[in-house]
Amino acid sequence: MKKCYLKKGKDRSVLRGHPWVFSGALKAEVEKAGEWMELCDHQGTSLGLGFTENGSIAFKSIGSAFPSPEQAIVTRLQEAHTLRKDQGLVDRKDLDIYRLFFAEGDGLPGLIIDSYGAHAVVQIHSRAYLEHLELITEQLVLLGYRAVYLRQRSSLRDEKLEDGYLMGKREEEVFLENGIPFHVDWEQGQKTGFFIDQRDNRQLVRKLASGKNVLNLFSYTGGFSSYALKGGARSVVSLDSSQAAVEMACRNAELLDAAQKHTGLTEDAFDYLKKMPEGFDLVVLDPPAFVKSPRSRHRAVQAYKRINAWAMKAMPSSSTLLTFSCSQHLGRELFASTVRAAAIESGREVRLLQHLQQSVDHPSRMEHPEGEYLKGLLLQLK
Ligand code: SAH
Repeated sequence: MKKCYLKKGKDRSVLRGHPWVFSGALKAEVEKAGEWMELCDHQGTSLGLGFTENGSIAFKSIGSAFPSPEQAIVTRLQEAHTLRKDQGLVDRKDLDIYRLFFAEGDGLPGLIIDSYGAHAVVQIHSRAYLEHLELITEQLVLLGYRAVYLRQRSSLRDEKLEDGYLMGKREEEVFLENGIPFHVDWEQGQKTGFFIDQRDNRQLVRKLASGKNVLNLFSYTGGFSSYALKGGARSVVSLDSSQAAVEMACRNAELLDAAQKHTGLTEDAFDYLKKMPEGFDLVVLDPPAFVKSPRSRHRAVQAYKRINAWAMKAMPSSSTLLTFSCSQHLGRELFASTVRAAAIESGREVRLLQHLQQSVDHPSRMEHPEGEYLKGLLLQLK
């Protein structure tokens, strides 16, 4: 295997277990992304395996515990499955949907696998996994999956690559999350078809929704909306700029026989928030990641502040707001202070009830705080 050398003094973060190596830390420039290599310190001592990337992160490490990528894939997949089992997510009658494998958090950067009943949806973010797709499929079969679907076109940003079934075919249309049925489209939908990271926060919405008029902004296929309907909401509005997502949110409400309480709006959330109607006493704000890179942080912070202030201004007294950011480059503290600034700007008295985060099947390593990307606040407006 080829070797890749760190500059002198640049090995500390890798030795501490951080999986990313920035381009400035490498002796030579990366020639080709997605190549497995052995990472060495400046004297040639091995620090383990990993693969090259292009961009400011030039190398992603899988650590020194494995003699080969194949060994790492077999072991890490089994460990990830055991972790989900221990957390009570596997083999449940009321739960088909969970994340089986979460990249760095499960020990293999760039590899994501979601579980939809007997279907595994694999999303790769590095070409390094292309040569191991057969092995990954084999391991998934051993774990009981009957179909394996690969999504790579959008995550590898290569229109020439094709997505498709590595094994089996789609057997079902509807999947359960905490007993609530959802249509999931992993072929055309965003990411792998469903935002599984919000599962626990959706349970919270189910608990809070009874008798409420609920507004779900950036709703995608209405994950929060269906939980609100199931929790006895009086009315629910799902709003998203994607027409396909809103249509599916409506179909998901139909699965609950609650279409008459549900309204789907295909609209820009910023435009809607500027003239947001009053009277929504439970609002969910779950925008896409506004911070795409550390450089865009300032503008993104302003956007988070604006949407939160607009929502707070229009919400009635004794109402509840769940507000989120899934930007990896925006830390929990900065997000909280941004929402605090929005509260001050809105002139409302706002109380913080709870910090929210991604569900347990999205683990992050303590040495890799970037993996803790989803943060939210449960707020009460006086
Ligand atoms: N809350 C959702 C996930 C939201 S992901 C769930 O639980 O499933 C972010 C969503 O924001 C995507 O569906 C995307 O289509 C939508 N979106 C992005 N920009 C938008 C905009 N300007 N206005 C409205 N929706 C937008």
